[in-house]
Amino acid sequence: IRTGAWSVHYSAELEANYNRRLSITTELKRALATQQDELSMVYQPKIDLRSMKVCSMEALIRWNNSKLGHVAPDEFIAIAEQAGLIEQVTKWVMRQTISDLAYFREQYYDFTIAMNLSTQDIQNKALLNELVAFLTEKGLSPASLQLEITESDLVSDATLAVENLSSLRALGFRFAIDDFGTGYSSLAYLKNLPVESIKIDKSFILALATQDNDQQIVHTILSLASIFDLRVVAEGVEDEESLRILKEWGCDEAQGYFISRPLKREDLEVWLLNSPF
Ligand code: C2E
Ligand code: CA
Ligand code: CA
Ligand code: CA
Repeated sequence: IRTGAWSVHYSAELEANYNRRLSITTELKRALATQQDELSMVYQPKIDLRSMKVCSMEALIRWNNSKLGHVAPDEFIAIAEQAGLIEQVTKWVMRQTISDLAYFREQYYDFTIAMNLSTQDIQNKALLNELVAFLTEKGLSPASLQLEITESDLVSDATLAVENLSSLRALGFRFAIDDFGTGYSSLAYLKNLPVESIKIDKSFILALATQDNDQQIVHTILSLASIFDLRVVAEGVEDEESLRILKEWGCDEAQGYFISRPLKREDLEVWLLNSPF
């Protein structure tokens, strides 16, 4: 029964939710327009489990706003998508990430950088063209940039996305399916897409060392991936035992707090000089 008290409570919650979204939209618009230092990128290393050395960095956005404090990307990226701001956010990420990649190349680091794209980005031809142009301008090859997309993006609007992916693939970009295992696609389905690797979602990895069911899921994904010749990355590796299991089972790459948290460029440079990886 919908009591009066319940609907009062419910509408208050709706209103709070609405206000939060509104201030995030307003503040994000302002942050993008004023080019202040609110937005930044951090980089999280991924290691190759054969050599146990760094092979790639995932670029992750951070937003620190004077009114709202730190806003998590999980929250503001979704709002940016709905508010029509994602193109601007992605452009900002693209420029920052590619400039940092150029910087790392100048320092003789040869790791690739993985950038996250949202659904709307892979349907935005103009944006993708700009990505290519910006890389070229910096003298970098598409092969040095990996693009991470979530599996739901491909299932929801297959045709256009697949076309765009294929043309980018032809230029040398590499794709990874993010959050693998949380959506509906199968490895058999991915086989028909221009995708090189899958990232097993961290929900299956965080407690890998102790959870039997996670072990079974991960083991199954790894055996199927090898049949379909897909590279497998495990994200969310938080302890040494999980890392050991993944290596033993032939997982290709690992990423997680056990290896390193996401770091600002300057901190990453220090980490690179001192880490065992
Ligand atoms: P994601 O792409 O799946 O990124 C992995 C998230 O897991 C990151 O959270 C990362 O900091 C976190 N993580 C890494 N290692 C561990 C670990 O060992 N344990 C745990 N518990 N967490 C770990 P973050 O940075 O908050 O990003 C959240 C999501 O926001 C990302 O999920 C991605 O979907 C989105 N995102 C972040 N940056 C960007 C961006 O530049 N563009 C777009 N479109 N989306 C982004
Ligand atoms: Ca990702
Ligand atoms: Ca993920
Ligand atoms: Ca995610």
